Amino acid sequence: MQIIGAETILLSMPFEAGGTPPWSFGGKPTNAFDVLLVRIEVEGGLVGWGEAFSRGRDAALKQVIDTRLLPPLIGKDASQIAKIKHDLEFQLHNFGRIGPIGYGISAIDIALWDLAGKAVRTPLHKLLGGAFAPEIEAYASLMRYGNERDVRAATARAIERGYRYIKLHEIEVAEIRAAVEEAGSHAKVMLDTNCPWSVAEALAKSRALAELGLYWLEEPVWPPENYRGLAEVRAQGLHRIASGENAGSLHDFMAMIDAGAIDIAQPDVAKTGGLTEVLKIGALCEAHGIEFIPHCALFGPGQVATIHLNSAHRTLPLLERLFCDFEVEIYGEATIPAGGRVRVPDAPGLGLEPDPEVIRRFRI
Ligand SMILES: [Mg+2]
Repeated sequence: MQIIGAETILLSMPFEAGGTPPWSFGGKPTNAFDVLLVRIEVEGGLVGWGEAFSRGRDAALKQVIDTRLLPPLIGKDASQIAKIKHDLEFQLHNFGRIGPIGYGISAIDIALWDLAGKAVRTPLHKLLGGAFAPEIEAYASLMRYGNERDVRAATARAIERGYRYIKLHEIEVAEIRAAVEEAGSHAKVMLDTNCPWSVAEALAKSRALAELGLYWLEEPVWPPENYRGLAEVRAQGLHRIASGENAGSLHDFMAMIDAGAIDIAQPDVAKTGGLTEVLKIGALCEAHGIEFIPHCALFGPGQVATIHLNSAHRTLPLLERLFCDFEVEIYGEATIPAGGRVRVPDAPGLGLEPDPEVIRRFRI
């Protein structure tokens, strides 16, 4: 299992999401999503695939991975997943515990787990203890439309496609109310605001939204690591609070839980240290009675890893699926929810291989 090659491949995939483009995601306009792949090859020809969280054709992030993270892998034993992750983290910890270094390490970790499964011809979910179900339920994570007409139409479309849970990224009460009305009894609605407000603003907004019966309220406070502020909003008792996509490690989640900041933890396999770290966070949540629903705004190996991870968790967490359509996806139809559900792949490792033709077309 000696590593003989490692490279990154950056794709920019244009999408459609209805309404008026460009759509906003996390408050930033966009009409294409990156898929930043890490490909690791071992002696004998086996190849593992990972994914780093990336946005905006992030050539700088690619460069960090290419120059600082991949060269030390050559010659290492790919089966030493935890050691490789720890050594990279320890050697580079003064360059940030969340951000490019962490995203790159996450991608490497996912690729090594893919290789581990392929080496023993076993699907990833079996390495994680086995799937609790052959398919998992997804929620539609809508773009931010910023007007009532488009958010209503997107909500109706998601329900038509069989989703029973819909997450909004709106920040104004009128749009949020419109979507909740449109969903009616057909779907539960949660709200992700992407950290826009001071604690005082979040407290006021949270009160204004109280009557809408949101399934959860996500990241209402700036900055994301203001766990004490988040705990103040949670202490109002009006909403279940979700957070964690901007946290870097197990210890960040420990601090969040200690502060009483969250009901729902949302680590991301392509940001928060890969499967290795997110599995630890899952165990921490179980011990503390915190719900574990990984963040997943991904369309490559990170998404597939999350499908395996969720399937092997006793509570079968909902899979986040960004509600947008691509002309083609890198796994064809395999990761596109049908009736709001996705099948857990059953081939070795991640169980799906990126389509070389899609890579060729969208590589930048
Ligand atoms: Mg979010």
